[in-house]
Amino acid sequence: MSGNAGRVQAVSQIVSRTPMSPKTPLRLEDIWAENVFSLAKMKASLPKAVFKSVKKTVTTGEKLDPSVADAVAAAMKDWATSKGALYYAHVFYPMTNLTAEKHDGFISVQGDGSVISEFSGKLLVQGEPDGSSFPNGGIRGTFEARGYTAWDVTSPAYIMDTDNGSTLCIPTVFVSWTGEALDKKVPLLRSIAAMDEAASRVLTILGHTDVAHVNSSCGAEQEYFLIDAAFASQRPDLLLSGRTLFGKAPAKGQEFDDHYFGAIPERVQVYMQDVEETLYKLGIPAKTRHNEVAPGQFEIAPFFEAANVASDHQQLLMTVLRHMAKKHGFICLLHEKPFAGINGSGKHVNWSVGNATQGNLLDPGDSPHENAQFLVFCGAVIRGVHKYGPLMRAAIATASNDHRLGANEAPPAIMSVYLGTQLEEVFEQIKSGAITGSKKKGVMDLGVDVLPPLTKDAGDRNRTSPFAFTGNRFEFRAVGSNQSVSGPLIVLNTMLADSLDWVGNRLEAEISKGSELSMAIVTVLKDVMDEHGSVVFGGNGYSEEWHKMAVEERGLANLPTTADALPVLKEEYIEDLFKKTGVLTPVELESRFEVYAEQYILSIEVEAKLVIDMAKTVIYPAAVEYLSKLSSTIASLADLGVTFEKESAQKIADLTNSMMTAVTKLGDAAEKHDFGSTSEHMAYCASTIRPLMDEVRGYADALEGEIADDYWPLPTYQEMLFIK
Ligand code: ADP
Ligand code: MG
Repeated sequence: MSGNAGRVQAVSQIVSRTPMSPKTPLRLEDIWAENVFSLAKMKASLPKAVFKSVKKTVTTGEKLDPSVADAVAAAMKDWATSKGALYYAHVFYPMTNLTAEKHDGFISVQGDGSVISEFSGKLLVQGEPDGSSFPNGGIRGTFEARGYTAWDVTSPAYIMDTDNGSTLCIPTVFVSWTGEALDKKVPLLRSIAAMDEAASRVLTILGHTDVAHVNSSCGAEQEYFLIDAAFASQRPDLLLSGRTLFGKAPAKGQEFDDHYFGAIPERVQVYMQDVEETLYKLGIPAKTRHNEVAPGQFEIAPFFEAANVASDHQQLLMTVLRHMAKKHGFICLLHEKPFAGINGSGKHVNWSVGNATQGNLLDPGDSPHENAQFLVFCGAVIRGVHKYGPLMRAAIATASNDHRLGANEAPPAIMSVYLGTQLEEVFEQIKSGAITGSKKKGVMDLGVDVLPPLTKDAGDRNRTSPFAFTGNRFEFRAVGSNQSVSGPLIVLNTMLADSLDWVGNRLEAEISKGSELSMAIVTVLKDVMDEHGSVVFGGNGYSEEWHKMAVEERGLANLPTTADALPVLKEEYIEDLFKKTGVLTPVELESRFEVYAEQYILSIEVEAKLVIDMAKTVIYPAAVEYLSKLSSTIASLADLGVTFEKESAQKIADLTNSMMTAVTKLGDAAEKHDFGSTSEHMAYCASTIRPLMDEVRGYADALEGEIADDYWPLPTYQEMLFIK
């Protein structure tokens, strides 16, 4: 095949596709959580005492009584096999952002050679995948390959149906033989426990006597692109790196904003319906779906859930989006920036903390008393973002998310808090000391005179803020579409635990000096604003002025690349934070730095190789072929005495030569392997490799604009984004 034959074939395949016809939607009530071994199913099938014990662990986070495992395993197996499952899998979440599974049969060979299907408590509770195949950041040498998975009873088991049959999936934690966390779930659970402890203490100081387990909640909005599989198969860059490494901007992009909330194309709609049905069966409450700003881009947002379950469900949702896309002739791109010049994809992590007795602690509530409590928690968040903003940035640092942050379509790489006009005013007043409280007021009247009343919808929206208060939760808007939400949730819970601990200490100190609680609160909040108020910003986060002001006047960190952000994990105050809260040991933290840094370096190196390959073997041959055709035409016309301008041939020759010179430079640069440290290696990738890749691309994209369309081998942006 030469020239554009592959492209033409892809287009004709796509336009002749008949969309899978929409199924009659099943009734939600009939399918909801049918593939989940839910508390309701456990209640129906477990001995009463066993069920009570399991439920207690699930709802209060209390330690699991190991003696229940056999009974749960037996009931789980009966349920799973009745639904056709032959295998079970411990599902775990290694540091790679991916979901990993180890499958085992229920089969057990007996002494006489016969087989029975078996699943014991021991097999439910613990598994042993080959730990050496997962990154551990130097925690163990591969010769000490032992890693264990252990059942997480707080996240329900479920059945995953695939074309190869059904599997019982059991969410688990993944730890090393020496007990270190090798995954994202262990630190998430620890961060929730740390936050629970600190929040409960503050609630007690605020006068509550009945304080239930405080959990954190998460609702994640997921953006994604759908591209026809026939195009994707013609683009090695999309297949291997998840994004286009070449491609000229289309004449029409997203400037008309005609895609956002537009009608969902029929094929996509049938796909979404299929996705949602699968999610409902898995007990994942998918709620909102719509087109996003960019052509070919969509969003799905489930209703929020407890953070640990929400995180597992988010991983599952990404798996379902990808699998289902294949079935419908698409590929689903979760990359943060698949198309240069077109808006990328993020994941908005909506986060709050609360419990059964006091409710959502980030909800301003209706009464002044609740308002005061809210302001304490909100103040703690403000302090956390100011103190640990660089850590929040590090938690969203990946090679792919770097393309998006700060590019006038996503929040900048500077962490700040948006509060909305009303709340911002309240905190400004607190800071200016303009509010003076009545010393006579007790707990229940707290705030009537001291603090102004708040309305529920405490302000406007601000799309340009990385971290915005949205009425009863904070929305971390800078998270990458491809990322696990666990990392960001771990950081948010941990920094809040630290801040609440500080708030608790300060409140107690003020009270022991003789201060009324209401005055103590105002004093502590004023301290927060004096020390940390500079992180509150309500203006345009995309603007040049903010970038300048944030750094020069407010002293906030601007960490534009992962190479700038990840080294934050090595700083002493971060190590202290994780150690103090018990979320990560220094060894575990160090291993995370190593794993994330290695992923960053590897993904850039892979892309660099691909750029070189594609430039040499796809784009160069196309340019030469067209040039030879053009020059022979010019020459034969000259023979006939017809003069034909040579500039276009010259331009193509120049661009091709320049591209190949840049390819050579990139190839030489990629050869360098001696680096003093991992951080140095990352910096080299950010400041040398990436710009050279961009240079090659610049010439290649210019060539795409010069060469006759029927010689151009790669599906174009126009085709990929607009043909459906
Ligand atoms: P928008 O696009 O306006 O930001 P969406 O309705 O698309 O909002 O998504 C908001 C997400 O926030 C949903 O997942 C929703 O369930 C979640 N959410 C709502 N309230 C809370 C809360 N208290 N804590 C955490 N997440 C929440
Ligand atoms: Mg949102």
